[in-house]
Amino acid sequence: MPKIYFIDVTNRDGVQTAKLGLSKLEKTLINVYLNEMGIFQSEFGFPTTKHESLYLQANLELAEMGVLQPIRLEGWIRAIVSDVQTAFKLVPNIRHFNLSISTSAQMINGKFQGRKQKEHIINDMVEAVDAARALGAETIGVNAEDASRTELDFLIKFGLAAKEHGADRLRYCDTLGYDNPFTIYEAIRALAENISLPIEQHCHGDLGMAVANSIAGAKGAIDGGQDAYINTTLNGIGERAGNADLVATILAITKSKGFADKYQLGSSINLSKAWEIAKFASYAFGVPIPINQPGVGANAFAHASGIHADGVLKDPGNYELYGYEELGRGEPQFVETGREIIAGQYSGISGFSHVMGKMEVLFHSREEANEVLELVRYANVESQKPLVEDELLFVAKYPQIAKKLLTLAPLE
Ligand SMILES: [Zn+2]
Repeated sequence: MPKIYFIDVTNRDGVQTAKLGLSKLEKTLINVYLNEMGIFQSEFGFPTTKHESLYLQANLELAEMGVLQPIRLEGWIRAIVSDVQTAFKLVPNIRHFNLSISTSAQMINGKFQGRKQKEHIINDMVEAVDAARALGAETIGVNAEDASRTELDFLIKFGLAAKEHGADRLRYCDTLGYDNPFTIYEAIRALAENISLPIEQHCHGDLGMAVANSIAGAKGAIDGGQDAYINTTLNGIGERAGNADLVATILAITKSKGFADKYQLGSSINLSKAWEIAKFASYAFGVPIPINQPGVGANAFAHASGIHADGVLKDPGNYELYGYEELGRGEPQFVETGREIIAGQYSGISGFSHVMGKMEVLFHSREEANEVLELVRYANVESQKPLVEDELLFVAKYPQIAKKLLTLAPLE
């Protein structure tokens, strides 16, 4: 039986969202958390964007060191040969790609303004796949941008050409959030049956259906005999109304009525990381978690009305579908209400040693402490907010990697 896997695209779709962004250290921490959670793949950034180069290289180093294992780190580029070449020039050890090109008549006409026709789209894509393979790509996903507004016949032709050139997956992008669960099920099932490649579901929430469409699409892929790869983001943050939220999608697959009887995850997910990763993403993006967010919202396990409170106290199963402990919630949170020493961009060694000492980090020498402090100052310059404990611990544990992440001098 084919299975469901997750490709989290927070570090690509999430960071390209208007008004939002992440520091390179924050992006790295997200990869670390996704790995701890058991997520199959992180779309970790843009290999043709120069300011991403050192971040991408540093994360691939972490993979080699075993820190970012077994998660797969994949870069997003346009499906054109020049992007493939630039990616390998800037990030020579990158091995996993998603190559993206528009497939709908709306976008082919609207974006290329008559310079490209359908056959050019397929040609560009297969040339890019060939180039990526020749330069050392191990896995390649091919993205059909605006797939939900593309005629099915052309999508099948596009997918078959990708498969013929050795692509590993086809990404069905509901770029505008136009699909509903019924239409995406039919489309993806037809693609799976006719192309025989694993299908990715990339869904947006413009009509409030990103999670519903993702699981309907996954059902379509599996009923069509293929593995499903759902694209998610943390807290659903992505272009416009956002993407399918990772935690909500996991809950929908594993907890919704009867779904998991037939449609199962390909690897075990550590759901108890959900609370931590959602909180971190909220802090890093500077976007509060909505009070009614599934699983991780402040009200997800709150009960006030008499009948509900009485019912849940007698048996939580009366008014809760799943327990808060499963999501890693329930620990009391401590907020400093008295004197507070914070490590920032102008910190000195005394305050910094105090902060690190509270986390039981001991430095072997004053030089070592000074070196880490200097990195923490730079990290704070980049993020402009106090680093969380895990960021401070990361910098202390991997100073050479941190140095790379924090090097943002414009490259030639
Ligand atoms: Zn998107």
